[in-house]
Amino acid sequence: MSDFCIDPPVPKPEDTVARCTLCSKPLSAENIFQKEGSNFCSVSAAAQYEIQADYRTTVDARERVRKRKAFVRKIMILIVIGLLGAAAYYYSEQQKALKKDKGKKKQKTEYIQTRLI
Ligand SMILES: [Zn+2]
Repeated sequence: MSDFCIDPPVPKPEDTVARCTLCSKPLSAENIFQKEGSNFCSVSAAAQYEIQADYRTTVDARERVRKRKAFVRKIMILIVIGLLGAAAYYYSEQQKALKKDKGKKKQKTEYIQTRLI
């Protein structure tokens, strides 16, 4: 299963005390190699497991960074959409105010014109 594991003699079921964390082979008390609370069939298996753990940690860190970037991107998109909406609302309110002003000026002009006539 793994190039880093050796083939220890397969213990009798009653002599099996653990399994290799890397290759899952049964281990007897004489063939066990322990490192940081895990059981391995060889030193190279333990070293390889550590390398794989480091790799998994790196992949997890990259995944976290990628998710954070995606989250920030979504927030930025929401902010831009919000700003565009606010700008559109402001513009439409300005247009309404201008129309109202034009209407009032027109009324004033008509009023003045009727008074002059
Ligand atoms: Zn192994």
